Amino acid sequence: MEGTMKGAYLPGNSTVVFKDVAIPRPGHGQVLVKTKCCTICGSDIRAIYREHTGKGAEGYQNVIAGHEPCGQVVEEGPGIRRFKKGSRVIVYHISGCGVCHDCRMGYMISCSSPLRAAYGWQRDGGMAEYMLCDEKDLVELPPELSYTDGAQVACGFGTVYEAITKVGISGNDDVLVVGLGPVGLATLMLCKALGARKLFGIESNPLRIELANKLGLADKILKPADSNADEIKALTGGRGVERAFDASASDKGRATAIRAARQWGKIALVGEGGTVNFNPSPDIIHPQKSIYGSWVTSIWLMENLVEELVRWNLHPDALVTHRFPLEKADEAYKLMADGNCGKVAVCFDEELK
Ligand SMILES: [Zn+2]
Ligand SMILES: [Zn+2]
Repeated sequence: MEGTMKGAYLPGNSTVVFKDVAIPRPGHGQVLVKTKCCTICGSDIRAIYREHTGKGAEGYQNVIAGHEPCGQVVEEGPGIRRFKKGSRVIVYHISGCGVCHDCRMGYMISCSSPLRAAYGWQRDGGMAEYMLCDEKDLVELPPELSYTDGAQVACGFGTVYEAITKVGISGNDDVLVVGLGPVGLATLMLCKALGARKLFGIESNPLRIELANKLGLADKILKPADSNADEIKALTGGRGVERAFDASASDKGRATAIRAARQWGKIALVGEGGTVNFNPSPDIIHPQKSIYGSWVTSIWLMENLVEELVRWNLHPDALVTHRFPLEKADEAYKLMADGNCGKVAVCFDEELK
């Protein structure tokens, strides 16, 4: 592929800057992917759109943004083993060194090498017509799923699936999800598919509540309040939920998730930043509760998730409320930062419908 393409960069002052750059050539073990969809993540907004907050794993290196990409292989570099021209692929969004312990477990998110680079943060990401990918970072996108489905698996749904796998979900469980942004909505969607008994949400944004109701994702959605844990107990025979997730990243939301869980309950914290206050003895020690931290997922669990989505006939793209062409990426990021939306996607070709 010859020529130039436009790429979107985030200078860190709530704007998007476009630059013309050469279309990259794949080296050994690499492919060139034609981007079809790249969704915007809460972490993009928190750490690199409004300002550049992070260092190391969260440090933005002034590369093409976009860490939730999905597309089609259009050019093969030498030494490719599995994927080929025409392959539909999800990009696991962190390229690890491949040889540290965490990479060998498939958790490139936790790669401890200085070679670790996240697409859209330390190496060019999906907010451009083409992107250069290492073959080892790709997950096959089956024909049953759209590229917009796949983009959400690249980060958000993968992250949710990891947390769910850690705490386990079955028909024995009532579930509370605090915060119904895209990650919280995805949590409800997957817990429902796994057969959870009753699903509860806590959210204040009317558009997000409406989206959850439209998709039939929750039995009841509460407005955030200090009384939320008591309300959840009242809705569950006085016991509380078996499983609670925090996707609100709010201090009070986390405390609610912990307190609304029943005895022996499990709580997963997914929302990032901030803090939490709780009283260890009455809140977790005496009631025998466990709190799990969960950060992104492994590439093998991402492959499992893709397989399950097909079996469940479940489409993550149902959470996408807004699609923009690349030229309007500034509007896309602004909307996601404002929060009056479900998932926001920058789309190309057939995905821009
Ligand atoms: Zn993300
Ligand atoms: Zn590594």
